[in-house]
Amino acid sequence: MGIGAVAKGVLLTLVLVGQPLLAQEAPARLDPAESWIDDRWRGIELSLVLSRAVPWRVFTLDSPRRLVVEVRGVDWAGVETDSLLLGDNATGLTLGEGTSGWARLEVELGRALAVTEAGMTVAEGGSSARLHLVLEVTDDESFAASAAAPPSQEPALASPPAAPPADGTFVVAIDPGHGGVDPGAERAGLKEADLMLALAEELAEALEGAGVVPVLTREEDSFVPLQERMTLARAAGADVLVSLHADALKEEDASGASVYTLTDEAVGEASGKMVERHQGSDLLAGLDLRGEDDAVATALMDLARAGTVPASRRLAQALARELPKAGAALNDHALRQAPLAVLNAADFPSVLLETGFLSDAGDRGRLSTPGGRAPIVRGIVAALTRWAAEEAGRPEPLTR
Ligand SMILES: [Zn+2]
Repeated sequence: MGIGAVAKGVLLTLVLVGQPLLAQEAPARLDPAESWIDDRWRGIELSLVLSRAVPWRVFTLDSPRRLVVEVRGVDWAGVETDSLLLGDNATGLTLGEGTSGWARLEVELGRALAVTEAGMTVAEGGSSARLHLVLEVTDDESFAASAAAPPSQEPALASPPAAPPADGTFVVAIDPGHGGVDPGAERAGLKEADLMLALAEELAEALEGAGVVPVLTREEDSFVPLQERMTLARAAGADVLVSLHADALKEEDASGASVYTLTDEAVGEASGKMVERHQGSDLLAGLDLRGEDDAVATALMDLARAGTVPASRRLAQALARELPKAGAALNDHALRQAPLAVLNAADFPSVLLETGFLSDAGDRGRLSTPGGRAPIVRGIVAALTRWAAEEAGRPEPLTR
C-alpha cells in the first residue's frame, strides 16, 4: 500500500463546520478501560475510546521523537497515563492542552515510527467513538522529513455549497466504486469496477443534459483511495455524492437495486453482509494515507455528517421511488443502512447505490449493456433532480 508515501508531512485532521455548536457540548471523555497504547510488530498501536466523536488530528514531531494526537473538546481530567501505556516502543505519555481548544496527547517514541493507519469509528447510536492508529517502523530520514507541527491556523474550509437552485448549479459527485487493483465483484467475465465506470459516464452525460454538474471521482480503471475521492468531491463543491456499486452474493438470490445510507441504529444482517463483502477494500478503510495531494487530509466528519443524514435518507427514498418508475429493477429491501466509510467520510448528503447484483443473471444482463443501464440512469437523474428541488424548498439549507 505504498506506506512510504505516508511520510511526506502528512497531517491528518478533522475540522468541523459547526464549531460553535460543538463548544456548547459537554466535554468528551476518554474511557481509560477501553483505551491503550501497545506494541505491535514493528510498531505501536493506539486505541482511544471517547464518549463521542470529536474532531481529531495526528502528526509526528522530531527531537525528541513523538506522536501528537489532538482531539477537540476532550477533557483528560482523571485519566491515568500509566494505565494506558502498555508496550515498550512508546516510552512516555503526556496529556495536556493543545492550541485553540485542542486537547493534546503526546506519545514519546522509542524509535522512528510513521503513522500508517488512522481512523475514527463511531459506535452504533453514537454512544462512543474509537480513534485507532497504527504506527510502523520507518527510517530516521523519513521520520525527520515527515515530522511537522500542525498549521498555525485552522485549515481553510471550502465554503458550503449553496442549495442547488439558489446559484443555478447543482453539483453531483458520482463515485464509480472500486477500480484498478480493486476490481470489486467479478462474475462471468464482468468486473464491477468496469460496469460502474461505464454507468458513471452515462449518468454524468444524462445529468449534464438535465442541467446538473457531474463530477466523477475516478475517470479510468485506476485505484483511487477513498480520501482522494472525497477530496475531489469536496473541491468540486459537491452538493451530494452517489457511490455506484454492483456486488455479487454467494447465495445468488438477490436482485435489483438497493440504496444504502449511513446507519444510526442496529445494522441488519443484510447490511452486515454488505460490509463484509467490502472488507479489505478501500470502501471500508475509512482513510487512506497514500494521498499526498494535500497537507491536510480530512478524516471522518462525524458531526458535520450527522446533519446530512436526513437529507441522504430522503434521497434514498427518492431513488427507491424513481428507479422502478424509470423501469429499473428494485430489490425487495431497497432501503438499507450500513456503516460504510464512503458514507461516513462525506460531509455532504451521500448514498451508496447498489445498482444490482452481478450474481444475478438478470441484473448482470442489464448492467452489462448501455441499453440495460439506461433505466438506472434515468431513475437516478429523476431522483436527484426531484430531491434537489424538494430540498431547496426546505427551511434548512441542503447541506451542512
Ligand atoms: Zn462494490
